[in-house]
Amino acid sequence: MTGRFAPSPTGELHLGNLRTAMVAWLSARSEGRPFLIRMEDLDTVQASPEHEAAQLHDLSSIGLDWDGEVIRQSERFHLYDEALDRLAAAGSVYECFCSRRDIRLQIDAAASAPHGPPGSYPGTCRALSEAERADRRAAGRAPALRLRTLGGTYAFVDRLVGTSSGAVDDVVLRRNDGVPAYNLAVVVDDGLQWVTDVVRGDDLLSSTPRQVMLQRLLGLDTPSYLHVPLVNGHDGERLAKSHGATTLRELREAGTSTDDVVAWIARSLDLAGPMETPTIDVLVDRFDPTALPRHVVEAPDFTLVG
Ligand code: GLU
Repeated sequence: MTGRFAPSPTGELHLGNLRTAMVAWLSARSEGRPFLIRMEDLDTVQASPEHEAAQLHDLSSIGLDWDGEVIRQSERFHLYDEALDRLAAAGSVYECFCSRRDIRLQIDAAASAPHGPPGSYPGTCRALSEAERADRRAAGRAPALRLRTLGGTYAFVDRLVGTSSGAVDDVVLRRNDGVPAYNLAVVVDDGLQWVTDVVRGDDLLSSTPRQVMLQRLLGLDTPSYLHVPLVNGHDGERLAKSHGATTLRELREAGTSTDDVVAWIARSLDLAGPMETPTIDVLVDRFDPTALPRHVVEAPDFTLVG
């Protein structure tokens, strides 16, 4: 049994990311299990080694450790390509020449909503002939690769939410710039790293049915899931720069210690009382995934609570 945290090194981790990482780590360590870090740096424009180093530093600062080397998705394209080749060999992959705009226009123009989740790909390029594909390539359009699905609904068990399910559509497997798609990479990596325990933000809840579908097609086990509710700003919006100091560095600069941040995370997870600053070992002892709060949490104002 193995847990993991898989941040995208595209910026500094904010309080919500740190809180989710803490839950992922506690979930593994409270059961004496290995814990891995995977850098999801597929987006080579935004991801950087500096962000990666800063994220690892912050995770260590709040007391989290991990087993083995940190792996990077940017170094594993060959593994995603292999999975893609297997799906293609089964006849399940097709080229899609649609831009996002094309897809939006097609959805708007359709008499009835396509099957699948909101914004689902309407299947425009599914049945192109070889000649039609050649025309599009000749016009300079690079294709993305999509999975030919049978639609349908995929269910999974979330340790907080219970059984959840969602419809799937023809997901992108490789973007038209040649970069593997997030859903494929995550499924391949969780499978190859023997991850059994996925803990992540609940903004990814709607991606999980697609990932379960890909696991089945690739013959991989479905891990257990725990989607952690996000931390929002005072205005109810997702944490962002506009909310002021939300990263460890910014908070430190504003006079809040890392211990205060850890104490806030612990309290927000119902793992500590209002005046307590428990050590990480105490949190490991107290952790019970079934007792985690199920609601969105508001970011603290450290000038009041520190
Ligand atoms: N890299 C994703 C993110 O930072 C998380 C993916 C996952 O945990 O499955 O939002």
